[in-house]
Amino acid sequence: MNTPFTEEPAWEVVVVGAGPAGLTAATYLARFRRRVLVLDGGPSRAEWIPESHNTPGFPHGVGGPDLVARMRAQAVAFGAVVRPGRVDSLEAATDGLRLDGTFGTMEVPAALLATGVVDHLPPIPGVEAAIRDSRVRMCPICDAFEAIDRRIAVLTDGDLGEREAAFLRTYSADVEVLRIGEAEGCPGMQIALEDLRLEAQGVVLRRGGQPERRFDHLYLALGCAAQSDLAVAAGARQDELNNLIVDAHQMTSVDGLYAAGDVVRGLNQIAVGVGEAAIAATAIHNRLRGAG
Ligand SMILES: Cc1cc2nc3c(=O)[nH]c(=O)nc-3n(C[C@H](O)[C@H](O)[C@H](O)COP(=O)(O)OP(=O)(O)OC[C@H]3O[C@@H](n4cnc5c(N)ncnc54)[C@H](O)[C@@H]3O)c2cc1C
Repeated sequence: MNTPFTEEPAWEVVVVGAGPAGLTAATYLARFRRRVLVLDGGPSRAEWIPESHNTPGFPHGVGGPDLVARMRAQAVAFGAVVRPGRVDSLEAATDGLRLDGTFGTMEVPAALLATGVVDHLPPIPGVEAAIRDSRVRMCPICDAFEAIDRRIAVLTDGDLGEREAAFLRTYSADVEVLRIGEAEGCPGMQIALEDLRLEAQGVVLRRGGQPERRFDHLYLALGCAAQSDLAVAAGARQDELNNLIVDAHQMTSVDGLYAAGDVVRGLNQIAVGVGEAAIAATAIHNRLRGAG
């Protein structure tokens, strides 16, 4: 892919990432009448969501793909341009930022990174399909309510598992931590991944000589990788989990480079990401009109 973006009018803002944060920022910027380009590097994390029940405005729930499609349509309706494209590097330039990627090279006065995180998935056959139908889950804050009184296993390779289990025990009395790898000193039942099988009705644990255990849901507590490398290589500060550190206007420590959503330190939630996007987009607009 090598789209000649240079044929377009000069962009005032480039938004990197087409998930809830990037698309919300695009809607705001388009409504501020900015020439905004969204680079869509692939599926949003939200596209894993079978049905979200905590997204504001959807009392009967909304599927992740449907939500992302609505957000994209809203941004495009006001004039944002969304194109496939990945950014490979970015750096400070004389009048803003220079971006390199599948589209070639571009210089823009300001950019917003909304690149999210990538979840660590275990190599269990069928795990992706099981996430899509909610047998396997990744976010107790998102969907523990839909696991009330269910039999729950939490799969971990460190101490995150016990913290998630403690959270889940306020919803169910039947929560077991299953530990893989060499997480010395961490609580939980040591298992091998091969002991776990995903079946139509849930998850089965079979360990030699032990009675079979069945769970309705398997929560993954294996962490994720913040997609912050681009910003960090340009000099942006990050925390110990590689999440970007931003100021009150969502600007990273690189002048003109803003960030919103899961890639930023804080709660990985749609409501948080769209709030950060609204703040970032407004700050970018004020900066471009010389008022910020
Ligand atoms: C199974 C599951 C269920 C969930 N349920 C809920 C829920 O019910 N409620 C809730 O609030 N949250 C939920 N979440 C979390 C929610 O999905 C995230 O908080 C949300 O998607 C974050 O949005 P974002 O825009 O920051 O990042 P993302 O949605 O991850 O989007 C990131 C975008 O950046 C792009 N990108 C990355 N790198 C580059 C690059 N170099 N160049 C160009 N593009 C790039 C990606 O391709 C993608 O388009 C759930 C998550 C999972 C996995």
